Amino acid sequence: MDLAWVETYRGARDRDGLRLRPGERLLAGGTWLFSEPQPAVTGLVDLTAMAWKAWEPLPDGGLRMAATCTVQQARSAPWPDPALAGRCADALLMSFKVQSAATLGGNLCLGLPAGAMVALTAALAGEVVLWTPDGGERRVPVPGFVRDAGVVDLRPGEVLRAVELPGPALRRPTAFRRAALTDHGRSAALVIGRRDPDAVVLTVTASVPRPVVLALPPTATGAAVRDAVADACGATGWFADPHGAADWRAAQTVRLAAEVHAELGEVVP
Ligand SMILES: Cc1cc2nc3c(=O)[nH]c(=O)nc-3n(C[C@H](O)[C@H](O)[C@H](O)COP(=O)(O)OP(=O)(O)OC[C@H]3O[C@@H](n4cnc5c(N)ncnc54)[C@H](O)[C@@H]3O)c2cc1C
Repeated sequence: MDLAWVETYRGARDRDGLRLRPGERLLAGGTWLFSEPQPAVTGLVDLTAMAWKAWEPLPDGGLRMAATCTVQQARSAPWPDPALAGRCADALLMSFKVQSAATLGGNLCLGLPAGAMVALTAALAGEVVLWTPDGGERRVPVPGFVRDAGVVDLRPGEVLRAVELPGPALRRPTAFRRAALTDHGRSAALVIGRRDPDAVVLTVTASVPRPVVLALPPTATGAAVRDAVADACGATGWFADPHGAADWRAAQTVRLAAEVHAELGEVVP
């Protein structure tokens, strides 16, 4: 939609250019920004003009994903196993046009429960790198960055620069399960498992307002997994919106979590 109140547009080409003037808002892919009225926004500052590399290798074999990396680019990053990134990109159920514009940073900064780039980066032990207005940097684990539905740990003047994913987490086996009310509906419950040497690490999103991460013994029984997930997510609170009632999401989540745990429990690390 047209943002009728916007009078200025400029590309940010260096860190100083990211300093926002009154009424200005950062623009990444614009897929959310242009999807609803923004009466308080009178100027746009285009982050993509920073021309950051979509991803860079880290010394430990991990990946530094730029905030401006699009969902489409994220699919084709050099993952040891590309399946998980592809399934998370598909979980967003965007058309190819939206996928090629929507960015990883925009997805994290919106902090929606169904943010599948949040799920992907939380499940892979990601750390958000924030540029602070004093020229410094602040780092926050992804599950702590998203604090509630639509609420993130982004302070005034801060810019999400990148998400770093450590090499060891990228090389571990993973499993993915997702539930939605309809085949092409928005995610209502999404569970990703990562098989670490001594634990199965489950990351729950979509059915809870912020990511819930719990490490369980690989030998845990199905009943123990269901109880642990119900307790951890229940303590956070189940999320409800037109894409699913809380009790249905709770039932789906514990079912999916038990499936993910059973799948990874069979993998020899
Ligand atoms: C058809 C369709 C389906 C969608 N489905 C989903 C879905 O299933 N799940 C979901 O979570 N979202 C969904 N969205 C919402 C949204 O498009 C995505 O979350 C997308 O990833 C947002 O990224 P963007 O780059 O377009 O952000 P933009 O719209 O450019 O920006 C979003 C917000 O984040 C801020 N921002 C962006 N980047 C940064 C940064 N690096 N640092 C600080 N602030 C920043 C902007 O100022 C703005 O307030 C959907 C949108 C559409 C149109």
